[in-house]
Amino acid sequence: MDLKTALPQLLLKAIAWAEAQAAQISSSGRSLDEGEMELARRVGVARPERVRVALVDALTLPEDPELRAAALQTGLLGPGMVGLTLGQSILIRRGYETKCLLSHELRHVHQYEQAGSIAGFLPGYLQQIVLVGYADAPLEQDARAHEVADL
Ligand SMILES: [Zn+2]
Repeated sequence: MDLKTALPQLLLKAIAWAEAQAAQISSSGRSLDEGEMELARRVGVARPERVRVALVDALTLPEDPELRAAALQTGLLGPGMVGLTLGQSILIRRGYETKCLLSHELRHVHQYEQAGSIAGFLPGYLQQIVLVGYADAPLEQDARAHEVADL
């Protein structure tokens, strides 16, 4: 799939998928504890009380075949992925719940806050991923730069 060509059309589906996932986690996920709230503030989260975290056995792939293929092709939801942030909802794969990963995902929450919403954040983020790749995407570099090491 040529993602650069497909992106505009995939975006609406990606936003709808992300919003549905985030809504589900906002009701089923847990709130941050005191230490995690402090960590959230440290990496720039303005409303840590709104963050929800869900531990999952595997990151769920979208049912839509095109969206699923794109998620795998970019590596965003590939087998190596252990965390995903959608708005104020954070998914973390069981066994990977470290301070380092949580701080990384919380920085993405900050980025969503800056963008205002999932629909405000995803177009720019996905465009970066498609154009320069996951590792070099500036929003990923920013999240990595704000990782707090585990003790
Ligand atoms: Zn990231």
